[in-house]
Amino acid sequence: MGIRASTNTLYWDARMCEIYGVANDRSDFHYAAWRDALHPDDLENAQALLVRTLEEDIPYLTQFRIVTPTGETRHIRAHGVTYKTAIGRQRIVGANWDVTHDTLLQTELRDARARTEEQNEQLRATRHTLEHQSLHDALTGLPNRRFLDRFMEEAGRAPPEHPVAFIHCDLDRFKEVNDTLGHAAGDAVLKEAALRLSALLDIGEFASRIGGDEFVVVTASPMPLVRARHLAAAIVQALARPIEVEGRQCNVGCSAGIACQTAAGDDLRQLLVNADVALYEAKKRGRNRAELFSEELLTATIQTRRISDELLAAIRNDEIVAYFQPQFCAQTLDIAGVEALARWRHPTRGMVPPSEFLGIAEELHRSAEIDAIILDKALTEASRWRAIGLDIPNVSVNISAQRLKDETLIDSLKTMSFMPGRLSFELLESISFDGEDTGIRDIIEQLKTLGIAIEVDDFGTGHASIVSLIELGPKRLKIDRRLIAPLEASGSQRRLVASIIDIGRSQGIEIVAEGVETPAHVEILRSLGCQILQGYALARPMAADEFENFARTWREGHRTVEMAAIGRRR
Ligand code: C2E
Ligand code: CA
Ligand code: CA
Repeated sequence: MGIRASTNTLYWDARMCEIYGVANDRSDFHYAAWRDALHPDDLENAQALLVRTLEEDIPYLTQFRIVTPTGETRHIRAHGVTYKTAIGRQRIVGANWDVTHDTLLQTELRDARARTEEQNEQLRATRHTLEHQSLHDALTGLPNRRFLDRFMEEAGRAPPEHPVAFIHCDLDRFKEVNDTLGHAAGDAVLKEAALRLSALLDIGEFASRIGGDEFVVVTASPMPLVRARHLAAAIVQALARPIEVEGRQCNVGCSAGIACQTAAGDDLRQLLVNADVALYEAKKRGRNRAELFSEELLTATIQTRRISDELLAAIRNDEIVAYFQPQFCAQTLDIAGVEALARWRHPTRGMVPPSEFLGIAEELHRSAEIDAIILDKALTEASRWRAIGLDIPNVSVNISAQRLKDETLIDSLKTMSFMPGRLSFELLESISFDGEDTGIRDIIEQLKTLGIAIEVDDFGTGHASIVSLIELGPKRLKIDRRLIAPLEASGSQRRLVASIIDIGRSQGIEIVAEGVETPAHVEILRSLGCQILQGYALARPMAADEFENFARTWREGHRTVEMAAIGRRR
């Protein structure tokens, strides 16, 4: 195409006519033909460019839209240069291309890209929200376990500038609140606990909720131990204040375990385990306190864990057995009964005494199970003794607090076969009989109805009042061996035991003396009127078959020389 500027004439070839959608029956057009074809939005720019080209004699390369006579919009790319004719007239020569297809494609692409970008942005925002949610606890808004895990991972790759300390906190009585006041109350307690924790933190520290009522506070400082101790004490104190829930004051309390990196770079996962070990110790030492991790603590914990695992296996593998210690009528020295005592027949350590595993069983909430095993074995033996004609007037078993509170106790006893009046349960004096716990009194009444006698064990060591004990209507009081041991040496001790025996007499309660270790003990207790004796001086606890032999020989009068001597001095 060409333009003669002086006459405003355009010369279009066949292709130009085709592009502009005009008839190809001539080659010269007036400038207006082009101008009228331009898309109104592009008109101004396209004209201005043309004017500039002519004025400044510069080439142009541009793009604009036209509207064909049929109303179709086309994208045109135009290129042109000016030149002078031989007689000095200014003209433009150039070419137009229909780039509609390309342009539309590009526009589409651009739109598509913009849409994708927008979607990506939405995705990024959603992901950010999800990420935040997945790293925070919905209830308290605190960072969660995953957050802490990620913190530990990152610290593993790039250790923080200062050593880190963890404070592992656990609410002491959260379960009680949850159980008695419901989950909504539990949630309210957790939220308040989170607020109180957060209020104590400095910049750079955070508290995470890593489980039900467990929080881990993270701090890093040049002196982490000083800061962590201070913070832990403040946390314990803050949570010792009652939390108000639904108008009630809940004393929840909190225990804390502290573990400090000794050098930046110490493994944080181990540090968390250490804080847990320290927390466990804080719980064990009576809660509502903070304890610091130490290597000795770790060793002891590993030991306890090992024994715990072994003990659980022992229960499954029937390694818990019953030993039997005879009790004697103080006057006749006949066997008055037997106390069943738990032993752990350990595959490598031999016979393990209860002092080494009952505490752990209690922590594992397995005391009740052990008591049940011993009762079962004792009843089996008792019926065997009856079958072979051995008359054992009474079998006593020890009952832990856990067992006494076990809701299935009474029902399970109803399914067992024992002779009413010949089975006793020994309850530690330290089990609280005082106060409002009517539940325990109910159970004791039901036990009595079943024909099971109650004996108060370790009498004289607890703080229970004599009156409240007598109200339980026990059949026997067992005087603790710590009161028996000094009998020979101390007159006042003798008077104390004498008065216990008197009280028993007046109330119709039999007195059993435990830890009767010497012939002198036997003598003194007899003279004071004690009814039943139990102790090494007469017989040690023994395995079932041993006891059977012992009882038979004893009945036949084959008593040891020493015992015979005591007998004669009667
Ligand atoms: P306990 O009920 O006071 O049992 C008497 C303990 O004193 C037994 O220790 C017995 O071996 C020991 N003993 C007996 N005569 C003498 C003596 O003359 N001198 C001395 N120094 N000790 C004597 P054992 O068998 O080691 O039991 C310790 C405690 O473990 C028991 O004290 C009882 O509280 C608890 N226990 C044992 N078996 C069971 C059980 O099956 N269930 C529960 N809940 N507790 C049990
Ligand atoms: Ca006992
Ligand atoms: Ca005892």
